[in-house]
Amino acid sequence: MPKGSPDPLARYRAMRDFARTPEPAGGSGAPSPPDGARRFVVQRHRARRLHYDVRLELDGVLVSWAVPRGPTLDPDVRRLAVHVEDHPLEYADFEGVIPARQYGGGDVVVWDRGTWEGGDDPAAEVVKGELHARLHGEKLRGQFLFVRTGDDDGKEQWLLLHEHDEHAVPGWDAEDHPRSVLSGRTNEEVARDPDRLWRSDLPAAEAAVDLRAPAPAAGPSDDEIAALADLGAGGTWEAFGRRLRVTNLDKVLAPGRPGEPPVTKREVLAYAAVIAPVVLPYLAGRALTLHRFPQGADGEGFWQRQLPSGAPAWLPRWRAEGGAEGSTEGRSEGGTALVVDEPAALVWAANAGALEWHAATARTDAPDRPTYALVDIDPGERTSWEDVLLLARLHRDAFAHLGVRAYPELTGRRGIQVWVPVAVGPSFDETRAWVERLSRTVGQVVPELVSWRWGVRERGGLARLDYTQNAAHKTLVAPYSPRPAPGLPVSAPITWEELDEPWLRPDAVTVRTVGERLATRGDPFRGVLAPNPSLPAIM
Ligand code: MN
Repeated sequence: MPKGSPDPLARYRAMRDFARTPEPAGGSGAPSPPDGARRFVVQRHRARRLHYDVRLELDGVLVSWAVPRGPTLDPDVRRLAVHVEDHPLEYADFEGVIPARQYGGGDVVVWDRGTWEGGDDPAAEVVKGELHARLHGEKLRGQFLFVRTGDDDGKEQWLLLHEHDEHAVPGWDAEDHPRSVLSGRTNEEVARDPDRLWRSDLPAAEAAVDLRAPAPAAGPSDDEIAALADLGAGGTWEAFGRRLRVTNLDKVLAPGRPGEPPVTKREVLAYAAVIAPVVLPYLAGRALTLHRFPQGADGEGFWQRQLPSGAPAWLPRWRAEGGAEGSTEGRSEGGTALVVDEPAALVWAANAGALEWHAATARTDAPDRPTYALVDIDPGERTSWEDVLLLARLHRDAFAHLGVRAYPELTGRRGIQVWVPVAVGPSFDETRAWVERLSRTVGQVVPELVSWRWGVRERGGLARLDYTQNAAHKTLVAPYSPRPAPGLPVSAPITWEELDEPWLRPDAVTVRTVGERLATRGDPFRGVLAPNPSLPAIM
């Protein structure tokens, strides 16, 4: 390590817990109400049509009405309320997205919640068709009345009204108060970057899928990181239960950023070890291509798709059968690739000088079926960062419009990529055609920024929306992979909201800063592990 600089591994000791997300994503259940009180919740639900679901806890279920225009505090207004089937209590604090084509597909925020009081026998009142309920919520307060008025096509029509009391507010309209009482977010914001998914096809206890699940594997222990710091130029490092031969630990692999010490191989190994549990879910089960820079970021790099013959026997690997559809280079005669199914394998790759980690878009068990569709916003020489952001925001709006979850990441170089997780099914031809339609539609909005020419010289310095990345033989730079440049920037997943933050630059996050970012903001990419069930048609 450079003289006079502090122990470069100290930060990894401090941050080794950063795989853990800072907050549980909404809690495992609504807080218990005071003794004897019943809960109520109102969810603002954008499904085929916007409506508000008013749900009152009663006898172990949520008795529910769908109120198209929302409840009101205005005592002179009556709202149509369609009595719908009871919902499980587990649904009461659900905020997130319901996949398209499932029952209730759309997005949901917890618009209001609290407790309610009824008369002596509210269940009998529901049967009778006249329910009195005093609500104690954050938005809804006071005495409400639900009255059944008749049937329409088998659906019970009720009216919901607020009685004249001290909580009545003339002119009060739900749509003037659209934000969640849980997160402060709007439906649009939740749809763009949901914390949770509701699988209507599963039992209630399993239906809420956490899209911000913490990393499953543990990072290296303090002792393991300390042992790496204590090794001289090389030796045997025991980490993750493996004995790893590590070499040239003091070698500089990248210059530092101005005012910062250079990045040594020891620091790169520590980074690989600490980030491994975070990145493992994105690498496991996929052939990994290494971009090796044995002489460091300033030297020549080369691509390695084949596991070298001298590689340790314990390394997980995949032997391609004669090469998958469209495969080229290396795998065409059925080579053997590294598969990072355990954290130590990533440390091994880093010791081999792999400064970049590129994983296959398809898993080894279905190598011609991608699990991601990829949008690659590839700037030309004349493309400014503001232009890249504009193109990213246009894609953001397109995904929101389509109801497709998609996840942006800074490439660590100049551009932004967007990953769209898809259930195994479509071929690469299909995902490529889908991304092409999407990006051409977006590109039409700003023709002055985008070229569809392939040759770099023919592009006139304009950006390319490179849908051809969706091909079996292409690989994607893994989230949190370093890039060979001063200070080792990383490809860093971000939230859609962060597109609007002033600090954002394509190489803003480095191996030295990503840990703190994960510790404070969590990993915005966890949602790519939950596939969109299908890609909707683009008209
Ligand atoms: Mn609903």
